[in-house]
Amino acid sequence: MLDDLLAFIDACPTPFHVVEHTSQALRAGGFCEMNEADAWDDATGNCFISRGGGLVAWCHHTQSTGFRIIGAHTDSPNLRVAPQPDKGGFGYQQLGVEVYGGVLLNSWLDRDLGVAGRVVTPQGQRLFRIDEPILRVPQLAIHLDREVNQAGLLLNPQAHLSPIWGLGMPTSGDFRDFVASVIGVLPHEVLAFDAMCYDLTPAVIGGAHQEFVFAARIDNQVSCWAGLQALLHAGDLNAAGNLADSAVLCLFDHEEVGSVATAGATSTLLPHVLERIVGSREALHPALARSVCVSADGAHATHPNYSERHEPNHHIGINQGPVIKRNANQRYATDAVGEAAFVAACEVAGISHQVYMHRADMACGSTIGPFAAATTGITTVDVGVAQLSMHSAREICGTQDPIDFVQSLKAFVTHTNP
Ligand code: ZN
Repeated sequence: MLDDLLAFIDACPTPFHVVEHTSQALRAGGFCEMNEADAWDDATGNCFISRGGGLVAWCHHTQSTGFRIIGAHTDSPNLRVAPQPDKGGFGYQQLGVEVYGGVLLNSWLDRDLGVAGRVVTPQGQRLFRIDEPILRVPQLAIHLDREVNQAGLLLNPQAHLSPIWGLGMPTSGDFRDFVASVIGVLPHEVLAFDAMCYDLTPAVIGGAHQEFVFAARIDNQVSCWAGLQALLHAGDLNAAGNLADSAVLCLFDHEEVGSVATAGATSTLLPHVLERIVGSREALHPALARSVCVSADGAHATHPNYSERHEPNHHIGINQGPVIKRNANQRYATDAVGEAAFVAACEVAGISHQVYMHRADMACGSTIGPFAAATTGITTVDVGVAQLSMHSAREICGTQDPIDFVQSLKAFVTHTNP
């Protein structure tokens, strides 16, 4: 099962690839793809739609009175290629990049980077990925930065992060020509692109006793993957006529930059699809009132070298179960009712859980949870897999936690609403 998680992460260098890979898995599981642009006569059964870097999949039947929803996000912090990226000097060809989300900038230095994304041509959208080490952001030698280990590494996003990708004079259009040749179209057919860098190192199992997963994009592809497994399970039950309430998986894009986007958690993506599933606005509101949502996203494991950064009554361990996240200021959406719903699912699955609180004197991060709760009015619980190195180009989680998360989410989506 863990091999499937590693393959998922390796297959998904961008949010668009998460949507494509997830769509393939849903189709293989018998889910029917629908289109937002069509009129829907009937949305019962196992179905899904995609919107850019977002996706909603559902298992619905006419006896259902509410939804069991799993939300997650497809995007991860990274370096994104500028629209006019060709630049350079001193004999180097470089690409201009823009920092996307809360990147740990140092983690992108001295890594072999590929480029992936989507291209829009007159024939439509095409995904692409260049699995070659074509880019590198070289760190300054210590002999030219003698204070770096004492004063800390200061990186200016405009000045210090442009990858090198060749030697010679940069020419306007170089990158566009390169992408066109990779996907097999003429340069003028590349009307526009969304391109981003990614670390080529594959996801691996590590640790002396295989306790860890070392991989890029653990935040939040572990949750996307776990939610997908739970929904495929719900789909099987629905096909056999054994699903209690309707199950939904909603993968949002752009969480890392505040969720205000066409497929972000503040968007119409989830509420509009839920309305179309039940068929009318009048049917929607009672269903929302009888629903519960898990907002699935990474949680901070206690860092052994910085234990003082953590709330001493809420230490979180790797491979000790899913983490319920609480924040009185609603940076996490969890309240007592939502927490109880997830605890009940863990009990059904026979899995222990942990509860996280950020230190009261530090600003807490957030998730799609508060936005999904606000746009739908659905009781929501923020839960995730414990991890280290959040927002690094390469992160760490446990090998048992993702499996336990799948089991708890399976129990959650198949549990009857109160
Ligand atoms: Zn996240």
